[in-house]
Amino acid sequence: MSDETPGTAGTEADLTAVAAPTQRRRPKPEVMEIGGRRLSPATLMMGHGYDPTLSEGSLKPPIFLTSTFVFENAAAGKRHFEGVTGKRPGGAEGLVYSRFNGPNQEILEDRLGIWEDAEDALTFSSGMAAIATVLLAHVRPGDTIVHSAPLYAATETLIGKVLGRFGVHWLDFPAGASRAEIDAVLAKANAGRVALIYLESPANPTNALVDVEAVAAARDAIFTGADKPPIVIDNTFLGPLWQKPLKHGADLVLYSLTKYAGGHSDLVAGGAVGAKAVIDPVRAMRNTIGTITDPNTAWMLLRSLETLELRMSRAGENAAKVCAFLRDHPKVERVGYLGFLDPDSSQGDIYRRHCTGAGSTFSLILRGGEAESFRFLDALKIAKLAVSLGGTETLASHPAAMTHLSVPDARKAALGIGDNLVRISIGVEDADDLIADFKQALDAI
Ligand SMILES: *Cc1c(COP(=O)(O)O)cnc(C)c1O
Repeated sequence: MSDETPGTAGTEADLTAVAAPTQRRRPKPEVMEIGGRRLSPATLMMGHGYDPTLSEGSLKPPIFLTSTFVFENAAAGKRHFEGVTGKRPGGAEGLVYSRFNGPNQEILEDRLGIWEDAEDALTFSSGMAAIATVLLAHVRPGDTIVHSAPLYAATETLIGKVLGRFGVHWLDFPAGASRAEIDAVLAKANAGRVALIYLESPANPTNALVDVEAVAAARDAIFTGADKPPIVIDNTFLGPLWQKPLKHGADLVLYSLTKYAGGHSDLVAGGAVGAKAVIDPVRAMRNTIGTITDPNTAWMLLRSLETLELRMSRAGENAAKVCAFLRDHPKVERVGYLGFLDPDSSQGDIYRRHCTGAGSTFSLILRGGEAESFRFLDALKIAKLAVSLGGTETLASHPAAMTHLSVPDARKAALGIGDNLVRISIGVEDADDLIADFKQALDAI
């Protein structure tokens, strides 16, 4: 981000213009490390990217409700547009118009990038807006998208049905694929231009993990130079705390910030963090079509990020306790929880290399069918019956009858989405209260 941006670092000239004389200097300069110790994201979420002197000394960033920004003079306006339109390299130097960016979104983008040490970051009006903008920016007619399967249903629709109308093809490999299987699919796709390799890990709703390191090695063995397709991954289920795919060879990480990052089930937003070269065309596309998040939602996300580590850690600890209880219950067939992966299996091996926590979203496979599942869901007293995940409250749903109702039976069977599968996202409540709730609901079956 530029130094001339309101709400962030500013030049001395900016400060004189907006601050009272006593406030001309920042109360404390921004610190990224102390005594050689690099500060952790949890610490930086409280102030990074925001200069209080540019906002009357306000400790917290105000919400900047404006559609446009005033130029210092006509020449500065010209320079801004030269940057935005690409006539001059380096992009926009300041804020121009709220479809391009605003102070709240810029601070949010700076802070989001911190979690994964990313070169650049963008935020969007929803997770699907992030995914759609990335695809539109990188795909041309005749291209092939290689992707892991299954994907979030709307992503599958976007790639298969919507982009298909514009002559874009796709090829997939199963989420748990070995290096040899990935090699085979990439070699087949290499007949035409491969626009990007799109991953989702863990996959929804199977929780199958993708070996990002193997995908990157396979990509680098087949493609060279300018033809090398970027690796894009939807990290909504474990990121940004428990899985950092940029470290394992991904170029761009996508988020539904609606889930763990927002974390309170009170907003819809999306994010993209990663390599600047991959993000640049996405920013240009977002500028064109206006899929940016709004200032109010960005402000709420700044608040959410301050407690991200607290919330995710607690939810993860709760899930471990709840799953340990559920696993031994006689009415439970199996618990599809990443923490229970056999360390000697290939999935367990990916988990050990890629993940630092098992998350708090898992599948509970009950003994019985739809009737037993519905009785269990209806008996829950604390857990709310709703789709989505990653909020402070525990949610439970039935994929076969809800999110995956329209998926053909054969595909549901192949994905292991049966009538006895219940999807659970654990929140930050008291773990023993949750266990008491699950116990009485299982007893009610
Ligand atoms: C929810 C979700 C999305 C879509 O995000 P929205 O914010 O609802 O648009 C994409 N991918 C995954 C894995 C999700 O869970």
